[in-house]
Order: sequence, then C-alpha cells, then structure tokens
Amino acid sequence: MSFPEFVYANRQETILRQDPKAKAKELNHVLLGTYLEVLDSKGSYYQVATRRAGPGGWVAKADTTESTPLKVFFVDVGQGDGTLIETPQGIVIIDGGMGAHFHAFLRHRYWPLIENGEIIEVKAMVISHPDGDHYKGLQRILEDEDFRVDAIYHNGLMRYPKSTEDSRRRMIEKGHVVEADVDGDTAYFVVDHFDGLAEAFARKAEMPSWFKQFWTAAKESADAGRLNSVQRLVAGDSIAGFTTTSGGKAKLVVLAPAPHQIDDADAFLAFDDPKKRADGDEPDYPDYGYSHSHTRNGHSIVVRLEFGDHKLLLGGDLNIPAERHLIEHYGTQNPFRVDVAKCCHHGSADFSPEFLKRVSPHATTISSGDNKSFDHPTADSVGAIARHSRGDLPLVFSTELARAYSISSAGHVNDIHYGLVNLRSNGTLLTMAQMKEQHSGTDIWDSYNLPWAGKFWF
Ligand SMILES: [Zn+2]
Repeated sequence: MSFPEFVYANRQETILRQDPKAKAKELNHVLLGTYLEVLDSKGSYYQVATRRAGPGGWVAKADTTESTPLKVFFVDVGQGDGTLIETPQGIVIIDGGMGAHFHAFLRHRYWPLIENGEIIEVKAMVISHPDGDHYKGLQRILEDEDFRVDAIYHNGLMRYPKSTEDSRRRMIEKGHVVEADVDGDTAYFVVDHFDGLAEAFARKAEMPSWFKQFWTAAKESADAGRLNSVQRLVAGDSIAGFTTTSGGKAKLVVLAPAPHQIDDADAFLAFDDPKKRADGDEPDYPDYGYSHSHTRNGHSIVVRLEFGDHKLLLGGDLNIPAERHLIEHYGTQNPFRVDVAKCCHHGSADFSPEFLKRVSPHATTISSGDNKSFDHPTADSVGAIARHSRGDLPLVFSTELARAYSISSAGHVNDIHYGLVNLRSNGTLLTMAQMKEQHSGTDIWDSYNLPWAGKFWF
C-alpha cells in the first residue's frame, strides 16, 4: 500500500494512539503542524513517528495534511528577542537574543538533520536593529559550519563608541547627525548608514567591539561560502523568496523603518528619550531631541508575516516617538492590524496606546527576561496590550511565564529554565501554545485557537 513519506498534524492538538482505533489509548498530543514520519497505513489511520515531539503512534488520516504549515517559535532568550519562523519556503530568523540560547535551541531543533550531515539553510536572517539583545546571539549561527545563511537584512544604522553615541554634539561634529527642516519643524536626522557586507567590514575600525565582532564573523562566514548577501531594508522593500502568499507560501512585508529623504538619501528622524522629558529635560526642538539608542530602536525593521488567512507583526523595539512617526507616515492606512503581534520592546513602558489600537491583535507574545535591570514587561504595558486587543478574551503570552523546560548548562549545578511560545497555522486554523510546566500523561500543552472563544464559555 502506498502512503506519503510524511504528513503534518492538522488539529489544534492532534492525538497519536496505541492502535488504529478511535478509542485506543492516547500516547501523545502533538501541536498543529507537527512533522510526522509515516511508517505504515491501516484503514483510516497512519502509523507515525515524530522527530522531536515525543512518542509516535497511530493518527487518524483526517487529522493530518500534506501541505506545509507555518510554525513560529518565540524563543525565550532572556532579555531580548529571538524568533524562529519555519515557512514552506524555508527558515526565517528575526533576531537571536544576546547569549547562547537561541543558537542552542536551533541546534537542538535541527539536530536530527545536523546529525545526518545536512546543512541547515536560513533563507533570511533579520536583525531588527543593532542592539546586543537582538543581534549578538546570531553571531553563533554565522560561526556554525552546520548553518548557511542566504541573506542578512538589517536597518543600516551604525554603532559607534559610547562616548560618540551618547553625545549629540559629537555625532553632529562627525557628520553622522544633521539638523534639517522638515514640514516647517527643525529636527535632527541620522544620515550615516551602511548597506552591504563590504561596507560594514570596511568600517569595522569605527565600531565598538561587539558590533565589530559580529560583522567580522559575517565576513568570515561569507568568505567560507556560508553567507550569501547582506542588505539594508526600508519600508516597501521586499524580501527575496517571500513576496507572495499564493501557492500556500509565506509573505514578508517590510513596514519600517520609514526614513525621510535629505539630498536624495535616506535620513532617519532622530527620536528622543521620553524619560528625559518626564524629568523635565525638554528637547531643544518642539518635535524631537536626540538619543542614539531611541533612534536605533525606533527605526527597527518591522515585518508583517502573512500566511493563508493569518497575519503576524514583528515590531522590533519601537518606542513612543517611533510609533507616532509610523502612524504619521502611513496616514489613513493601517498596515499594522494583525492576528498576532510580537510585543514591541519587550513590554517596556515606552509604548503608545494609539499604536496598540492599530495593531489590535487576538494574541500578543512578550519576549523578555530577568537577566537585565529592566522592568520588562511593565504592568501598564501588559494591561494596555490586553485592553487594546480584539475581542473579550484576548491572549497575552510571555516567554518568561512560559518557562517550562530546562537545558542543563555545563559547569552549572542548576539547570536553566527556558520558555517557548508557539504559533502554528495551516492557513485557516491558528493555534498558540505553550508547554505545561508539569506533564500529566498526554496533557502536555496549554493551547488556544484564534480567535479564542474561551475554555469554559462554549
Ligand atoms: Zn531589545
């Protein structure tokens, strides 16, 4: 009898049983989209094995599909962002935290392939903005010979030594920042940016150590044939291979950064630090002062992922002035409304309710940790996210609350506990799930279909 080599689980939680019968003992629950290797076929059941999802068993054929799903993994990287996206066209990575965990997670997930001698192909590696908690952990992937990266995408903003970055005067003296009149207001703009790998590498002497190390690793990876290209993105650019949803594909739409133009070149509106305003330190100009960290956060690459009926927003570390800038930039359009959002800036208090209202998702994931002195996520941010979400039962996930599995780290007595928030879509059904901290038999998952109707309300 002929049967497919593999299928995908196609229910919110798909049940694998001991025998090919409806009432047979349950051996495992696997999430929507889980890869199932087909070993045998009997009547209306397949016998299947999982790759990394626990015991195999018999699954009803009606609970499976042969079409490739979308899987998004919001990986707990401590304070930071690290999102792995598996699409029918291949792997997309959006940020990779600061430490070793994101890379360790990828090696764990793809170990059956790596062990087989396969090279793991990353189609797109997006660095939302050049802060360590977003890009530093990606360096390990560039250095790993088991991985190959087709393209790195970045927002083009440079890092400078702290003494330069922290001083508006020095930034102006060095020509990185200029003053210009825009729509009758004087504002500061960052005019210095870089595009490709050759340019980044040529400027490495200007960079602080982490940034230099990253681009040096990228150059070595490219020289070894493991990195194909580096490109700067602005709103409206497309990402090769991800330009359409037709044929069951995933599409990536770049919504930000949205630079102004000065002398026909991109100029990034400088954003100020709202904390300084609260302290009474008013910026010199009515609109914006200048904080390099707020400017590079605020010009994060913002990506909208589309798959079947579903949309996901990945908003980097946008802040209040950046969200206002984007609202103004898009005017009457609202490209930010989605089903699921990765919360901007780890649930910082530096958010605007007006922007949250535009996103208005069914579910939000906050990616944050305790390993830095930030108070992320703040109580007002969690409250406002829920308030401005859609429906009476919106979902707010947190990688910190999802901490349920541990990876022992050599040299430490205690295991480190990490979380993972899962998004799965088959194009029509969208499931969000986190693993339960204690498993009782096959009761592994805390899972929700979107829009969520409630556990007890039907
Ligand atoms: Zn961040």
